[in-house]
Amino acid sequence: MASTVKDAIRRGRKTVEDVVEGGLDTVETVVEAGLNTVDAVVGKGRQTVESAVSLGRRTVEHAILGRTTMQAAVLHGREDVRIEQVPIPKAETGELVVRVGAALTCGTDLKVFRRGYHARMIVPPALFGHEMAGTVVEAGDGVTDYAPGDRVVALNSAPCGKCYFCLHDQENLCDDLLFNNGAYAEFIRIPERIVSKNTFVVPENVPLEHAALTEPLACAVHGFEDSRPRKGDIIAVIGGGPLGLMMLHVAALAGYETIAVVKHDGQVEAARQLGATHVVQSSSIRKAIQETRALTPRDRGVDIAIEAVGVPEAWQEAVELVRKGGTVNFFGGCAKNTHVTLDTNRIHYSDITLRATFHHTPAICRKALALIASGRFQASAFITGHAHLYELNRVFEKLMNRSTESEIKTAIVP
Ligand SMILES: [Zn+2]
Ligand SMILES: [Zn+2]
Repeated sequence: MASTVKDAIRRGRKTVEDVVEGGLDTVETVVEAGLNTVDAVVGKGRQTVESAVSLGRRTVEHAILGRTTMQAAVLHGREDVRIEQVPIPKAETGELVVRVGAALTCGTDLKVFRRGYHARMIVPPALFGHEMAGTVVEAGDGVTDYAPGDRVVALNSAPCGKCYFCLHDQENLCDDLLFNNGAYAEFIRIPERIVSKNTFVVPENVPLEHAALTEPLACAVHGFEDSRPRKGDIIAVIGGGPLGLMMLHVAALAGYETIAVVKHDGQVEAARQLGATHVVQSSSIRKAIQETRALTPRDRGVDIAIEAVGVPEAWQEAVELVRKGGTVNFFGGCAKNTHVTLDTNRIHYSDITLRATFHHTPAICRKALALIASGRFQASAFITGHAHLYELNRVFEKLMNRSTESEIKTAIVP
């Protein structure tokens, strides 16, 4: 073994990284293999190894991999994502650099892929992807809660903690939400604010790809709690996409009678597996309303209807599903400049509560991770595929064509 390392280096694999990728995994091994000191290793051209190791601030692993570039998905425009070599981020004060263990595809990313930008979050060329969990490889000065080697889930955003909304327990509406993207990459930088407010250690028993569900699940948990369910309520969830199914699962786990209102066969299966008491499958809104109401005593309607599709027709449908005094949650965000027409008499004389939950708060994110860690949440049911970073384009094309309606989320592994 020893001679192979020397030989490897002599033969022109000049960097430690090359040697290490050849099958040896620590600086020590390399040194033992015939290079007497770390300095000698560094002498081969890896100045960063010396600084990293001698300062003891970074992991040996990171030091060895102390290459300067990584593979990352870069969004250049509409349906134009390229896997490129980009600089590995560095952790400044208060920041972390995390090696991505798994990044999950999400409807938001699909929209970004299709449109080529995101008004609030992404202007190309840009790194993207936002649901991920991984292992800390570098902790910047001042970081005390996390150290290299820690498995963490870092959320896609964090509130400022100072604005009117943050000070009124509505951090999800923060005037200055800081977003972070770049999960479809080998490494991702986590900004200080997200490190301090919205990063959590992943319990040992939780696979990273399950922990990566924390973000979407937090949205679902928030929407569910915000609908203020009461014991014995019947809850209908319109939509069999990832968030609709999560919402349904959360309600079922909380012990409520649930009705899933979905369109596709694959969604019927998934809804059943995730605990739906009843499933209404119909491509006609009229029929879906009838059938859903028929499942409630004297057709009076459900106590809570949660819309998780994000189209105006479904918003209107949700209003038709609830009983007098019921609650509607417009949980699915519709496209810009869309409007709905509501029957004012029905809203007023039936005393219907309208809510529209958006995003999540740090407290809710913590709850979502706890639910995943509890083992009750069927995390693996939401991850229906795995793909390498290289395959990202193909994955999105597939999601766009909806060739597989039963796909929920794909775990992208760098
Ligand atoms: Zn998402
Ligand atoms: Zn704020």
